[in-house]
Amino acid sequence: MQLDKESTILVTGAGGFIGGHLMAELIRSGHQSVRGVDIKPLEEWYQLPSQVEAIQSDLSLIDAANQAVSGVRYVVNLAADMGGMGFIENNKALCMLTVLINTNLLQAARHGEVERYFYSSSACVYASEHQTKTDVTALKESDAYPAMPEDGYGWEKLFSERMCRHFREDFGVATRIARYHNIYGPEGTWQGGREKAPAAICRKVAEAKLTDRKDIEIWGDGLQTRSFTYIDDCLKGTLLLLTGDYVEPLNVGSAELVSINQLVDIVEEIGAVSLERHYDLDAPKGVRGRNSDNTLIQEVFGWQPSTHLRDGLEVTYRWVYDQLAAQLSA
Ligand code: NAD
Repeated sequence: MQLDKESTILVTGAGGFIGGHLMAELIRSGHQSVRGVDIKPLEEWYQLPSQVEAIQSDLSLIDAANQAVSGVRYVVNLAADMGGMGFIENNKALCMLTVLINTNLLQAARHGEVERYFYSSSACVYASEHQTKTDVTALKESDAYPAMPEDGYGWEKLFSERMCRHFREDFGVATRIARYHNIYGPEGTWQGGREKAPAAICRKVAEAKLTDRKDIEIWGDGLQTRSFTYIDDCLKGTLLLLTGDYVEPLNVGSAELVSINQLVDIVEEIGAVSLERHYDLDAPKGVRGRNSDNTLIQEVFGWQPSTHLRDGLEVTYRWVYDQLAAQLSA
């Protein structure tokens, strides 16, 4: 199907990283009725195109969810109380309370006119037994079961995936589910405790440049592996899934596997600096290795994320550097 650009599309978590980019992309591509909802005050939203109907409200409340979905044809649910490993390992209850948001939105969608409902799940749903080595076998969609996801955050995501499945099967809500793998890019969280590895490493390297520091702290031993997905690929995957016919969860993730040390190498190269590395072995570090198997999304859509990490990090580093420089000079 194609989205009707005159019908209202709701983006929740609109003040966040992916939500901001998605709203900007929808406006760029001619959508005339975009509604964004986030619990954050509007002045804290990363991006807020002037054409967007922006609402500050708490979607963990059913009345707010009903209002948000009222008159809406498409829902993209990106709202979550989340962050990088430092946040999710220490705030499991808060992460799990996000279940209220998706539940309320599904209820509202069930009783409304919603034609498509997109849910942003995560690679954190995958069973930990598949992620114990650095040279991992990439995760395919079926590896989520038997279930043993990331405690707290991952359980909430897996439960909400099931909720989407059953609202589709039992109530006819046309749900679509992406499992995002480490999305990164400019205009997102880069400091404050919720930032993820790419933004954190960019910030630390930029900080070293700007303050003449010679060393960098890395969480874990630096050998743990991940793949990182650039925001443009995330948006493309999101829109493909939203408009496509495939109803089961699909990975939206880069298959370019790197260690955290290699991630730091790349950012140091971009920043033209070489830093002495200190490893904090007690810091939160998540699973040992994780990569995205893209066989299924390639089969279904003939597409998979393709932005090279180096290229995406170049843009991300410049943005983080500018933010930090502005902050330091203020
Ligand atoms: P983000 O934290 O930047 O954005 C989430 C937004 O949800 C925030 O602005 C937050 O204020 C809002 N929110 C939280 N509670 C709310 C509530 N009760 N009512 C309304 N809004 C509320 O995160 P993001 O990186 O943009 O992620 C978007 C979605 O994608 C999330 O569901 C996240 O779990 C999922 N995801 C992201 C990644 C990633 O690497 N960024 C990876 C896997 C999954």
